[in-house]
Amino acid sequence: MKKPFKLLIPLFLVIVSLSFSAKAQKYEALIITGQNNHYWQGSSVVIEGILNNSGMFNATIVTTPSKGEDMSGFQPDFSKYDLICLDYNGDHWPENTKANFVDFIKKGGGLVVFHASDNSWGDWEEYNRMIGVGGWGNRTEAHGPIIYWEDGKFKKDKSPGKGGRHGKQDEFIVHTRMPDHPIMRGLPTQWLHTKDELYHSLRGPAKRMKVLATASQPKDRGGSGRQEPVLMVIKYGKGRVFHSVMGHTGNKHNNTTLDAGFMTTYLRGAEWVVTGDVTQKVSGDFPDAQTVKIWEDMKVPE
Ligand code: ZN
Repeated sequence: MKKPFKLLIPLFLVIVSLSFSAKAQKYEALIITGQNNHYWQGSSVVIEGILNNSGMFNATIVTTPSKGEDMSGFQPDFSKYDLICLDYNGDHWPENTKANFVDFIKKGGGLVVFHASDNSWGDWEEYNRMIGVGGWGNRTEAHGPIIYWEDGKFKKDKSPGKGGRHGKQDEFIVHTRMPDHPIMRGLPTQWLHTKDELYHSLRGPAKRMKVLATASQPKDRGGSGRQEPVLMVIKYGKGRVFHSVMGHTGNKHNNTTLDAGFMTTYLRGAEWVVTGDVTQKVSGDFPDAQTVKIWEDMKVPE
């Protein structure tokens, strides 16, 4: 009877040391930016800070050539990363880079997109499948229906027209719609997001997509009056995608749309696309439905 016990101790030590090394391991994130109709020079640095300050990610920024410049040298090695974070709305990448990107996600890589990254590449079918829905970029009914939320589920509006609109910048209440999804677990059912553009009339294939949260803006403020998707997850091949429409960054003096709600859901989405689960605790300083919270130092307080 002594032998099995002797074997168990080293086995236990191996398990303990493995779990410690797994905790110490950071997920490698590649932030791709360089073209956007928003102030990407600021937002990408904030995204990098949010990811790195979490202690869970090791984020690196790569910048594409500027609009209209030769793209042929843009050849990132996606295989070195666990997830790709897009802060990009611009020119097409070289065909082999696009093929490698598709391959990376299809084989199980993670993708996180926010705000105007869902405006990019309306004519790239595979990208539209990854992000579920998008706006502008000449998207029309040919790219898929308009998605909105009603009666406890997302619905498809197949009427013709352009995809993508937004009203005036307002604060808006985010409604959690899938409280049991790992990204939403522990978050309040409603919280206030800071002054931001609320996209509406987003269109796309919306296949293998779940709407995690919605928000609404009245028509007299330029909104749709409907509950619009603001947080989504999409399965693409074996890969997972997290899509947040929040995060307008209009000028270099204003990154405050990347508030507590944005940061929290972004980080939770980033973990989920890598592992399919979320281990992060929700901050005790997370906003309620009455008060906006800005975490200035890009760090989630306990
Ligand atoms: Zn915007």
